[in-house]
Amino acid sequence: MRKIFLIFWLFLFVSCAKTYDPLTGKEVYTLLPEEKEIELGKLYVPLAIDQNDGRYPDKEVQKYIQSIGLKIAKVVPRKLPYQFFVVNSPVVNAFALPGGKIFVNIGLLYVLENESQLAGVLGHELAHVNARHHARFLEKQYGMAILFNILAILLANQQNADIFLQFGKIGVQLLTLKYSRDQEREADRLGVRFAYEAGYDPRGLLETFLIFKKLDKVKVPEWLLTHPLPENRYKEVKKLINKYNLTNKHLIKDTKEFHYIKNKILKYKKSYELLNKSKTLISKGKYEKALTLLNKSLKIYPKNCASLTYRAIIFLVKKEYKKSFTDAKKSAEIDNMFFKPHLIAGISLNKMKKYKQSIYYLEKAKNLIPSFPDTYYFLGLDYEYLRQYEKAIENYQTALKLSDGKRGWEADAKRRLIRLKNLLYY
Ligand SMILES: [Zn+2]
Repeated sequence: MRKIFLIFWLFLFVSCAKTYDPLTGKEVYTLLPEEKEIELGKLYVPLAIDQNDGRYPDKEVQKYIQSIGLKIAKVVPRKLPYQFFVVNSPVVNAFALPGGKIFVNIGLLYVLENESQLAGVLGHELAHVNARHHARFLEKQYGMAILFNILAILLANQQNADIFLQFGKIGVQLLTLKYSRDQEREADRLGVRFAYEAGYDPRGLLETFLIFKKLDKVKVPEWLLTHPLPENRYKEVKKLINKYNLTNKHLIKDTKEFHYIKNKILKYKKSYELLNKSKTLISKGKYEKALTLLNKSLKIYPKNCASLTYRAIIFLVKKEYKKSFTDAKKSAEIDNMFFKPHLIAGISLNKMKKYKQSIYYLEKAKNLIPSFPDTYYFLGLDYEYLRQYEKAIENYQTALKLSDGKRGWEADAKRRLIRLKNLLYY
């Protein structure tokens, strides 16, 4: 008995990797190996993009944020494949995924006033990744077996409803991850250091705190919800910054490029305001009014893939499938990692009885976010009409397992499943 225990413990230790914390140089044990953390983070990029209404369509804006992010990433201790995305959400927020994927909402860029402020926020997010706050959350919350299973199944492109459910559950938690006060303190300390070492005036972060505090009176910025900002955090960062040599003339406070980019996005701000009003109208079922606003929004900025997507949703509801497909297709072409337009294009094609083309879009949607049940229901229909019954059965089964019972098609899926099984097996 004792021997078995010993082997068990040995196994546990072997499965922990001994590494050195790049921040402190101290020896640490980590459960989640770096390459797994990177792979896992990558799997959640499309979910993060979809939850924030797609990537901002302007490549120049994306490139600029990426360049500032990478400049700071050069001085951080963890060498990861860092990537920075600007997404269409109007909410004032920035967030990170495990493995070094960092997201900036367009809403945040609207309120920032200079480049050192942007550097402050990016430095702070990079600090969360470098202190392994996400990885530690996963290690604490989930068994490694589950995480490794998710990776194995998804990377091999296998269909497994239980794993997809877990994937979805973890995704929700990763995207709303709230940091502890200690973690915030650590991220502030490191973030300020990173920004400074990359050549930025470290007072940038302090300025963003003041901007957020002012906004707080109108509407709490999302960033403050996930990164709590008590009074003493401001004071602590101020004290910290005083230790740095702020008289250094070379410290970057602002650049022309920042304002060039900012002016560029402000030009289309109205398009996004109309989009957000129309989203509220859609949620209240006021489709015609929403449609008018979306038409205006797209007149201002035809590449606004979020507006295209919501207009496609309205057309789908109105059963104008050709129109919903056209908008969804355009949106999917603008952002090939945006889940919703792929799904809508697939459903529209199914309704138009173009089953093969529908499968093309739905398979893409499935690969982007594997945990959404409707994708599988419509795939089931497509395959059934094409007489590929085994595939139809598999997809109906997955759809039903992933569904919360309120999708509206469950009874139909069950009925079809029974009929197909009878057809095939009896
Ligand atoms: Zn934070």
